[in-house]
Amino acid sequence: MARNQTLKLNDGNTIPQLGFGVWQVDADVAEDVVAKALQIGYRHIDTAKIYGNEEGVGRAIANSGIPREELFVTTKLWNEDQGYESTLEAVDKSLERLGLDYVDLYLIHWSQPEKGKYLDTWKAFQEIKASGKARSIGVSNFTEKALQDVLDTGVVPAAHQIELHPYFNQRAMREIDARHGIVTEAWSPLGQGKADLQDATVQEIARAHGATPAQVVIAWHLAIGNVVFPKSVTPERIQENWDAQDLTLSQEEVARIDALTRDDGRIGPDPADFND
Ligand code: NAD
Repeated sequence: MARNQTLKLNDGNTIPQLGFGVWQVDADVAEDVVAKALQIGYRHIDTAKIYGNEEGVGRAIANSGIPREELFVTTKLWNEDQGYESTLEAVDKSLERLGLDYVDLYLIHWSQPEKGKYLDTWKAFQEIKASGKARSIGVSNFTEKALQDVLDTGVVPAAHQIELHPYFNQRAMREIDARHGIVTEAWSPLGQGKADLQDATVQEIARAHGATPAQVVIAWHLAIGNVVFPKSVTPERIQENWDAQDLTLSQEEVARIDALTRDDGRIGPDPADFND
């Protein structure tokens, strides 16, 4: 697969399919780690207000010398900021911390169905897009019902970021996203580096290609059309994950990994129950 392949979003913008995630990257190391990723070739960075490292990400971008239009930066609205006015304030603060005039993608981090604020928030998101502060707008961790409510506004999210890895492959939600032209983004794509990477099938496929289990899992995400942003703070692994673009799995291998999904595969919170 070509490096830095992009997918087309439903609003006409494009998104690099392989990016770099920075959840649980401490604020004081974020700058160095993101600088390393950019040096390796990553052009898509996935952060969020709640990660507490937007400033470090912003400094790495500023010091990289890479033209802004070559980068794709995502940040997310945290739960406490949901609501119309508070969303408009929150995006300005994120942009200030990032040192950017705009983000490429702004996401509602969790639907928080019991709070019932996501439609007001979505209204503000449309204004944020119209003002140019976000090139694209989308959602993350939305329940099927919350996603339908958003679709009913007539403004279709460009992306839906959800937990997705071989042991939790979200086929149903991916099909819903695809039906509406929404790009699915996979969070915790490596299953946080645990059971998914130890899986016997993944390991066997890795051996057959002289690749690593992480590379096999990333290649699987790319093959099934996900946007993916594995996280690592280790330079060798940041490089290894990037090199996964050189690995092409056969249809049979993709199908074998598709079959690994399990009912108890979820690692993070269920969006339906996460209302804090
Ligand atoms: P991940 O699946 O990317 O796993 C990261 C962990 O896997 C690392 O900490 C490391 O222990 C291990 N790892 C990384 N590269 C490896 C390699 N080559 N070989 C072996 N082990 C390796 O988990 P993640 O950080 O949870 O998810 C990635 C990104 O998704 C986050 O950084 C964040 O940007 C995003 N995310 C979003 C949400 C959301 O609610 N929208 C939630 C979680 C994560």
